[in-house]
Amino acid sequence: MEMLNTFIKEQFHISEDVLEYCIKKEQEIQSQFKRIEEIAEYNQLKVLAAMQKNKLSDVHFAATTGYGYNDLGRDVLEQIYADVFHAESGLVRPQLISGTHALTVALAGNLRPGDEILSPVGVPYDTLQGVIGIRKERGSLSEYGITYRQVDLLPDYSFDYPAIEKAIHAKTKLVTIQRSKGYAWRPAFTVDEIKELIAFIKSVKKDVICMVDNCYGEFVEITEPTEVGADLAVGSLIKNPGGGLAPIGGYIVGKEEYVENAAYRLTSPGLGKEVGATLGITSSFIQGFFMAPQVVCGSMKTALFASKIFEGLGYAVLPKSQDKRGDIVQLIQMDIPENVIAFCQGIQKGAPVDSYVTPEPWDMPGYDCPVIMAAGAFVQGSSIELSADAPIKPPYNVYMQGGLSWHHGKMGVMMGLQTMRDKNLIEINKLK
Ligand SMILES: *Cc1c(COP(=O)(O)O)cnc(C)c1O
Repeated sequence: MEMLNTFIKEQFHISEDVLEYCIKKEQEIQSQFKRIEEIAEYNQLKVLAAMQKNKLSDVHFAATTGYGYNDLGRDVLEQIYADVFHAESGLVRPQLISGTHALTVALAGNLRPGDEILSPVGVPYDTLQGVIGIRKERGSLSEYGITYRQVDLLPDYSFDYPAIEKAIHAKTKLVTIQRSKGYAWRPAFTVDEIKELIAFIKSVKKDVICMVDNCYGEFVEITEPTEVGADLAVGSLIKNPGGGLAPIGGYIVGKEEYVENAAYRLTSPGLGKEVGATLGITSSFIQGFFMAPQVVCGSMKTALFASKIFEGLGYAVLPKSQDKRGDIVQLIQMDIPENVIAFCQGIQKGAPVDSYVTPEPWDMPGYDCPVIMAAGAFVQGSSIELSADAPIKPPYNVYMQGGLSWHHGKMGVMMGLQTMRDKNLIEINKLK
């Protein structure tokens, strides 16, 4: 469309060659876009059906205060989550302040001194290392006598079944499976792969709790881990299932007993799910969950678009544009720090919030090198909104994810590329 292209060039300073290259790449992935839209349609109807089944009504949007007894909205929200995830029970709360906290509560609620955790998929997400005690941290599970064992993935990123079998023994109480790649260079697992892994683990030890760290994975496929054998799935509401509208929160869904154990840990033994006022934000949770399949759709398209763009320019990307996706994260190996910085600054320039600030690498606590983060988000730290971050160290990987709408995601990626071009970091003839 001529008017659109003129607007993009004049308002956002996208050069003719960058725009033409991006439009060409966009056309080449139309059939994959259609598949992503079909997944979104299925998931949208799944959420709609759960809301209808539970007779969601505007009375549920009322605020509760204090103890929060008889919070009808909270109860219906948790039942909607449970239904969408095909789980027996759900705990969906603003008192779960992040994904890390939700995972902490799920672990601490279900483990007792002497129990052992097994990660059969390599080292877990950075913050979880402190929670478990892999990295020494005050109050970690290891201080409570809970031990940890790990089996790494094989060089081709598949599961090391013989080693997993050997690592499961009498003390093994819970297996934690991280679906997303996190900050590792490995593919995210598909729900089918998780299904196979859980079936194997249960065949070795029937009563072990299989928990999936579902962060970044919700609504990427038409089934969720709890539909294929996971006893618990846990995630953050400022990622996929919050739909960009939840201002805080986490969720735990799964078997009634295990969710209850987590609730006893979150509030108090004996109180569990019965308390916890929602202070008026239930409507944001519910509406966000309703929007989430569409928002994930936009994020998936944005990630695919970025992989296609940078693949075409000769960069290593993960996943590749043709790969099946298990999460919304796109990795781009940028080779030199200048590329990383320019790309992140471009993403920031394309944001609705703080577009005028220029992110720079800084020494963030807990990291062994400077980190750059681009995030012009409505909700602080929300990574379902278009964001990119990168530790400044070889091989200079950028982790890009989110996008509340495809059209914004597309502009963000184009701005990233344009900023690289403006700094003469792109060979112009490769844009042909
Ligand atoms: C983001 C993330 C977490 C932690 O969630 P926060 O909300 O940032 O605390 C845990 N695991 C994975 C795989 C994640 O992507």
